[in-house]
Amino acid sequence: MKLGIPRALLYYRYDVLWETFFKELGIETVLSPKTDKNIMDRGAFYSIDEACLSSKLYLGHVDSLIGKCDAIFIPRIATFQNDGVLCTRFEGLYDIVCNTFREQNLRFIPLNVDEQQKISEEKGYINLGIELGFSKREAKRAYQCGLKAHLKAQKEKQLLQENALKQPDAVKILVVAHAYNLYDEYIGVPVVEKLKELGALAIFADHLDPAIARSKYTEICKDVPWIMSRELLGSIAYYHDQIDGIILMTAFPCGPDSMLNEMIIRRIKDLPILNLLQDSQDGNAGVDTRLESFVDIIRFRKGDFL
Ligand code: SF4
Repeated sequence: MKLGIPRALLYYRYDVLWETFFKELGIETVLSPKTDKNIMDRGAFYSIDEACLSSKLYLGHVDSLIGKCDAIFIPRIATFQNDGVLCTRFEGLYDIVCNTFREQNLRFIPLNVDEQQKISEEKGYINLGIELGFSKREAKRAYQCGLKAHLKAQKEKQLLQENALKQPDAVKILVVAHAYNLYDEYIGVPVVEKLKELGALAIFADHLDPAIARSKYTEICKDVPWIMSRELLGSIAYYHDQIDGIILMTAFPCGPDSMLNEMIIRRIKDLPILNLLQDSQDGNAGVDTRLESFVDIIRFRKGDFL
């Protein structure tokens, strides 16, 4: 069987785990291409107007896999901790995809994780392996290999970032964004590339170990229900004294981020903050100008122009 994986949403968090898990089981996978205009347009075509840009892109990525695989892997992750929730889009993703593509006669394979309903991550992967025709033992072993690779990759990312932060003169800007926005060719990559062109060092919120981030978010706000928003907040608390500014990058219209960003702007008063709302419009000229001004402001604060 050839299994399609949409390169969107939780792929950017669990890419190593998923790829290792399926490889260990001997399942061939095919990844949807990087986001382009066609994927964006197809995603918008399948979505309701109110959907966030990230979930529109997801549907575009599912569409791009049609005809290239025998089944498409769709995670349904409601919670992966005993407290806190994920954005409802992640819980509803499998049903949204099944309903949207109901006439195309596609096969979708879910991964169900809901810690609060006693379906742990490990149990979810074992169930997935069994559904794919493997024994419990084989599925458990594949999951453990995947988890090990995932944790190793996470550690390496953090270490790389810790080293980058040691550069004394660099303009260091923490980009606070969900990984699926930050690394998407359409949403985050142009922003990161522009920062590089401007000579600034982008620090990525998701490079911090999520467990450390979750242990620190209460330093900024105690009442945040969304687990991934807690991690973003925790990254600000962790990196606060090592950075020169913060970019809050959000995919329009995101409910959790709009609340979170407002709160961050009110509570973090000693660092410049740029609030970037990314939508599906073509062209990046407006964003580029705002990034240029923002980096200039930081340089003035650091005394680079004196
Ligand atoms: S958190 Fe925001 S951007 Fe992410 S899926 Fe939910 S609504 Fe979309």
